[in-house]
Amino acid sequence: MKVNFKSSNFSDYLKPSQIVFNLKSNDKVQSLNELLDILLEQKIIKNKELVLTRIINREKLESTAIGHGVALPHARVNTGNDIAVVVGRSKEGIDFDAIDKKKVHLVILMVWNPSLPGLFNHLFAGLAQYLRNEEFREKLFKAKDKSELYSYLSEIVLSISPQDKIISRANLIKKLQEIEISKKKATPEQREKLDKEAKLIRGELDAAILDRFDKLMEKYGYAVAEVVDGVCRGCNINVATGISSSIEGSNDIYICENCGKFLVAPKKED
Ligand SMILES: [Zn+2]
Repeated sequence: MKVNFKSSNFSDYLKPSQIVFNLKSNDKVQSLNELLDILLEQKIIKNKELVLTRIINREKLESTAIGHGVALPHARVNTGNDIAVVVGRSKEGIDFDAIDKKKVHLVILMVWNPSLPGLFNHLFAGLAQYLRNEEFREKLFKAKDKSELYSYLSEIVLSISPQDKIISRANLIKKLQEIEISKKKATPEQREKLDKEAKLIRGELDAAILDRFDKLMEKYGYAVAEVVDGVCRGCNINVATGISSSIEGSNDIYICENCGKFLVAPKKED
């Protein structure tokens, strides 16, 4: 499938034949395997083993289960196409190491070509925006058959979010900060591993975010600030009440109007 950046419907990348309505497996790796088989059979990808390895490496870094029963496993690999998408539904649910520990009932797997920077963020932000809507999720979960599921998924319009937040990327940017800080004290061997992990994350974030991140790291030694009791820990100034309450319990990133750092919720104690 060739990407046309002007087109903005999720269904531009997804055909009914790329939906598995009843995944056989409820194991994470096996279900990924099952989904990749579909892409291989339909000649949408050629290199299944490589794609699977990349997806698993990415899962090890941080689970792509975004909560509420949905996972978005992905990899940045050249498969001979610009983009490959496949969707799986599981009635029983799959253990995906989700942040909310809930089983996953809908898996949207995406592989995109490294020569198309920015594409993934566009897709991810668009999908996350729909999938965080409970009503929409319920509709997807309750679809009677493949064609009903396809018609609901076709409602997804991939417009860039005009909101002043970066959807579902807080854990990822925190991880990138941890890696960049660890790199300073790392041995050459450790550094090599950390560089690989950082590259994986950088491949997913768009240039404007990375630019801000790098500038903040250079200036302050960190880029992400927690919001505790409504106060940005980066500058000790109150953030707007609306933002403060939105951040709580969310995986979204906001930007501090005062110091420009990425604002995130403090890590929850288990
Ligand atoms: Zn601040």
